[in-house]
Amino acid sequence: MIIIFKPEASKEQIGQLCKQFEEQGLQIHASEGKHTQLIGLVGDTAAVDIDLVRANTIVADIKRVSEPYKKANRKFHPADTIVEAGGVKIGGGYFAVMAGPCSVESPEQITLVAEEVQKSGAHFLRGGAFKPRTSPYSFQGLRAEGLELLNLAKQKTGLPIVTEVMDTAHIPLFAEAGVDMMQVGARNMQNFEMLKELGRTNIPVLLKRGLSSTLEELLMSAEYIMAGGNEQVILCERGIRTFEPSMRNTLDISAIPMLKKQSHLPVVVDPSHAAGISWMVEPLALAAVAAGADGLMIEVHNDPARALSDGAQCLTPTQFDGLMGKVKRESNFFAGM
Ligand code: PEP
Ligand code: MN
Repeated sequence: MIIIFKPEASKEQIGQLCKQFEEQGLQIHASEGKHTQLIGLVGDTAAVDIDLVRANTIVADIKRVSEPYKKANRKFHPADTIVEAGGVKIGGGYFAVMAGPCSVESPEQITLVAEEVQKSGAHFLRGGAFKPRTSPYSFQGLRAEGLELLNLAKQKTGLPIVTEVMDTAHIPLFAEAGVDMMQVGARNMQNFEMLKELGRTNIPVLLKRGLSSTLEELLMSAEYIMAGGNEQVILCERGIRTFEPSMRNTLDISAIPMLKKQSHLPVVVDPSHAAGISWMVEPLALAAVAAGADGLMIEVHNDPARALSDGAQCLTPTQFDGLMGKVKRESNFFAGM
């Protein structure tokens, strides 16, 4: 971290600030030019409050030269992390597909969709039991009963399950229901108390990027989980909010290579929530594979027109099967197999 001082800053004032940093265990490297005085801070600067330092009247500018996330940082962990959930590996050359309805609606619906997506080669069954809906009048999910139904579909098919947790208090319920991967939804990416609690579990976490979050914010949220001891984190790009109204969100393809450069964690892409329209899911999914994604999350419904949530973006099992044929060719091709 580099701090540049204003020309009028006195030696005494700079000395006082340096003393504070030294008390935090940081080393100071001072440099004095003709017109500029600056210091370099060396050590664990993750805990330095950059805005507080900037607010100091003698400070002209402050710049981080290393990232504030450590555990998620590829610099300190060059090899790809392989996350294993329910016996399935993701990352480091292992490609995985999570598929299923937006919401769990009934025993028949979830088991039928599970069987269909399994036939097409999906590795995980997805399905929301607790749903984050914009309107309190929309279907809120079957809640605890939805978790039981997911478990039923898991028993029938053997597919591991991934489902969204929205409340710290629900975590034990999810663990008891045999949830193999905890999904943190876009709206909860910065629910820091929940991230901390998930960090105390040993259940892998699928962390979705917030609607208007930067990649650094996403990685800092991953850091919360990892700092607690749970290093089984998968990052998920699911579209961000931009000025373009013709799609539900804008899929940030650039996020895939950038996240993979910055972090060793696997990156999964959800083209369904990015597009919001079913016909756009396939081209976005293939683009994500080409850009290096480690997996996909796709919404599939047996009867999209009657889905209780997100019907417009759900693929039918037949459409999903067609997509999987193409994904298999692409992902094998890119893995050099
Ligand atoms: C979902 O996957 O069901 C969901 C609500 O996704 P997101 O948090 O990305 O909107
Ligand atoms: Mn959905």
